[in-house]
Amino acid sequence: MSVAFAYLDHNATSPLRPVAFDAMAEALKAGGNPSSVHRSGRAARSRVDAARRQVAALVGAMPSEVVFTSGGTEANNAAITGTGCQRVLVSAVEHDSVSKVAPDAEVIPVDGEGVIDLAVLERMLAASKAPTLVSVMFANNETGVLQPIADVVRLARATGALVHCDAVQGAGKTLVGLHDLGVDYLSISAHKFGGPTGIGALVVRGNAPFVTDRRGGGQEFNRRAGTENVAGIVGFGAAARAAGDGLDVEALLNSAETALLAIAPEARVFGGGAKRIGNTTCISMPGVRAETQVMALDLAGVCVSAGAACSSGKVARSPVLTAMGIDPVVADTALRISCGWNTQPEEIERLIAAWQDLYIRVGNSDIARAKAA
Ligand code: PLP
Repeated sequence: MSVAFAYLDHNATSPLRPVAFDAMAEALKAGGNPSSVHRSGRAARSRVDAARRQVAALVGAMPSEVVFTSGGTEANNAAITGTGCQRVLVSAVEHDSVSKVAPDAEVIPVDGEGVIDLAVLERMLAASKAPTLVSVMFANNETGVLQPIADVVRLARATGALVHCDAVQGAGKTLVGLHDLGVDYLSISAHKFGGPTGIGALVVRGNAPFVTDRRGGGQEFNRRAGTENVAGIVGFGAAARAAGDGLDVEALLNSAETALLAIAPEARVFGGGAKRIGNTTCISMPGVRAETQVMALDLAGVCVSAGAACSSGKVARSPVLTAMGIDPVVADTALRISCGWNTQPEEIERLIAAWQDLYIRVGNSDIARAKAA
């Protein structure tokens, strides 16, 4: 199969799955407010209920534990502000939608591979008896590095702390279970695995404390006021159902990593020594700034991104790589490649060819030096 261009930026957003599109089109056509008691309202309610069951099944939760939100950002914001805990501990590599909501949070450091320091967390937990929330992500959006959530839960339970896990880059890509992980709060987002943008969920375990600062109607079991985004919810449910047990792209991405390292043996895979989710690689092209790589690869028909700190079209230095102690000059050459549900081998081939071409053109490779000699 030949592809028009290679889309390898699924951690930014993943293309909408056709099943999600179809389900949304039907829901949009049908309309209806799930709070209305007449037949149109009841039909909309039953669509939302069915989608709630599909999303709950994706994360091994009860439907009543799913609170639909406008996405991962709102889910993270709500988790950090909604537990009533005075004290918040966050890892040094959290997404802005966690770290910026808790500017006074105490920061759990990570090692050079981007994995949190459990011994430090244990000491931090023992240092205060105040009600505490620990927020540690499942998989990092830039490096794909997985955090030891089971250990975080074990340490937190020993001191009665609550645990939130931002699983936005895990759910729909690999198995992520609220109860299997043992966390109290889980954030997920539809558009990271083939659902629409603007819809996500905060999954709140059983009777874990949760208060909302939104005022309005009693939607979402009084946990999130506002008329539901029915089409978004339905698309989320359809994508969750299609995602099933997750992605099968690890071998493809491993082959890309091997090929890129063969082209540039001095390149570095960030978090390469840690357990990582199988869809993400963060790799340096020695001596070439990430912005240059992104633009050159785009011209060659390959969509990837520079680290993650690219929210308003500007590329800033990656706080994740900084927290990992990576030399700033090296961090500035980091490229993020992320695969998803529809990634084809041809896309990986195109990436490898374009990356090699750029590396030779900039002239700092052995191949380029050999050609010039
Ligand atoms: N958390 C992580 C780890 C993310 O990567 C993102 C998006 O990139 C978010 C939260 C925010 O999710 P959303 O785009 O649905 O608001």
